[in-house]
Amino acid sequence: MEVLAGTILDLRRRIFELLPPDAEVTRIEFEGPRIAIYTRNPGAFIADEERLIKDIVKTIKKRIVVRSDPSVRMPQHLAEQLIREAVPSEAGIRRIHFNSEVGEVEIEAEKPGYVIGKGGETRREIFRRTGWHPRILRAPAIQSPTVAEVRELFRARADDRLRLLRSVGERIFRVKLFENEYVRIVGLGGFQEVGRSAILVQTPESQILLDAGVKPLSGGEEYPFFEAPEFDVEKLDAVVVTHSHLDHCGSLPYLFKFGYRGPVYMTEPTLYLTKLVLEDYLRVAQKEGRPLPYSERDIATALLHTYTLSYGEVTDIAPDVKLTLYRSGHILGGAIVHLHIGEGLVNIVYTGDFKFQHTLMLDAADYRFPRLELLIMEATYSGKDDVLPHRDEAFKQLVSIVDETLKRNGVVLVPVLAVGRAQEVLLALRMAMEGGLLPQVPIFIEGMIDEVNAIHTVFPEYLNATVSEMIFRKVNPFTAPNVHILKGEEREEVVEARPCIILATSGMLTGGPVMEYLKLLAEDERSSLVFVSYQVEGTLGRKILQGLKEVSFVDSRGRVEIRELKMQVHRVEGFSGHSDRRELISYLRRATPTPKKVILNHSERSKVKAFARGLERMFPNIEFYVPENLESVRAV
Ligand SMILES: [Zn+2]
Ligand SMILES: [Zn+2]
Repeated sequence: MEVLAGTILDLRRRIFELLPPDAEVTRIEFEGPRIAIYTRNPGAFIADEERLIKDIVKTIKKRIVVRSDPSVRMPQHLAEQLIREAVPSEAGIRRIHFNSEVGEVEIEAEKPGYVIGKGGETRREIFRRTGWHPRILRAPAIQSPTVAEVRELFRARADDRLRLLRSVGERIFRVKLFENEYVRIVGLGGFQEVGRSAILVQTPESQILLDAGVKPLSGGEEYPFFEAPEFDVEKLDAVVVTHSHLDHCGSLPYLFKFGYRGPVYMTEPTLYLTKLVLEDYLRVAQKEGRPLPYSERDIATALLHTYTLSYGEVTDIAPDVKLTLYRSGHILGGAIVHLHIGEGLVNIVYTGDFKFQHTLMLDAADYRFPRLELLIMEATYSGKDDVLPHRDEAFKQLVSIVDETLKRNGVVLVPVLAVGRAQEVLLALRMAMEGGLLPQVPIFIEGMIDEVNAIHTVFPEYLNATVSEMIFRKVNPFTAPNVHILKGEEREEVVEARPCIILATSGMLTGGPVMEYLKLLAEDERSSLVFVSYQVEGTLGRKILQGLKEVSFVDSRGRVEIRELKMQVHRVEGFSGHSDRRELISYLRRATPTPKKVILNHSERSKVKAFARGLERMFPNIEFYVPENLESVRAV
């Protein structure tokens, strides 16, 4: 690799020039988007770590990590002893694991703050005295098999992950070959429709895929146009996943089934949630006797290739592309994607699904970026009538529906997406109960929502202050005494335990445990079916909202049973994790800097076309595009 050697040597030389004379650097290596500097004298870096790292990052514009040379690392048992002495017992250390390949020690603790110490003091001391670089993880407040399994997978396959990172690094830092300048955006799914989101961003140098979703339909799903001539997994540099809803991550393992072996970027909460959501998706498909699009193994391969980023961290993902994730306000870990392409050639922001208003659980989406020329914005609620009631009104509406149903001894059935709406509705119900607005009736939860709740407790810094306070200082809404987790054995008894509230997946009645409850409750006039999230065209949820009065259920043996729908059907819209029409418009007003071009996606055809026409009048200086899947738009 002649060209590559040139880049490495050049970078090496520039890094060496910045290092203190006693740095004793033994190796400089690419590690995915980062550059790892191995030293025999970690102390030389620690003394003035922040300034030094900042200087290097500023000069070479790459992220770096300082690692110790194996010769100066303390034997593991001594290092472990030292760590246990240096860290106060309040930290609640659950696990210490050494990764000798890179000289890292992973410390999993209930209260990571104590391991880090004031201003990072304890962490630095551990590195200086043991020669092992600490990586500090929060242990879940509620047992979470998902978090444990992913962490275990990463520990067991640390060598493979490092090898992958090194080859990714070589790809990212290859010398640029092309002179032409263009950036082309092609929707492979999720344009003029809701579902199967997938956007290909192409430059002469690189190919980036933003999201890889499926479109949920009753009894099956649709995939993005991966067979499109411009799409080739072999040429793909990176996949970025905005959040863990199936319409954004459901076809990720499918890419690996067809040979993709490059990196996937997302936030850490999205990593755990994605694993959970994908495995559940397979389980449900299997139970319902549908053909499986990929295997558990493909999911594991996808996870193995996933690298997590924090909000605001700038990362090279291709020779000419830098990625930064921002808050989307949509669900835990949800991200808005910012791509900086070429040396200032163009900046693209893709909102993914976003909420431009704070919710019970999350802060509103970020809207300020260092630079922005092209905005790709979701427009789910862009119709004339898509003005959602304010959250307070939605809260009141939900409380009154629930209250009336409970008073007539009915059951409230809420179909929810396991991630996002379930937690938001549960929080609303718990707040109403604590405030005396609703009686403390049992809330039953089924469909992996409990596991999602557990994952929420690992990331208080991603939630807003009120909720993290509730989790850590008051009654944790996810583990309150009247919240019961079901595994599917006792559905008939639950329905008889009336009055009660049931939250179950899937959110659009396309399968999952909610279907069993619907079958049991459909003909019960006292009970209520309450929709709290968007219902995609073609789903049973949408058909019921449009007035369907009879529902047929197919069991695993293919027998069909029909039920008349006599239960009360309600729709409470203010709980949506999407921006409504007003919020979409205000996002365009406030996005900084103002984009020159805007592409609208993630919306039904007629709605989004009309919306664009209105926007053209409102924002005469912005060009609006509403492409179909496979139509391309040039950013440059
Ligand atoms: Zn979503
Ligand atoms: Zn979506």
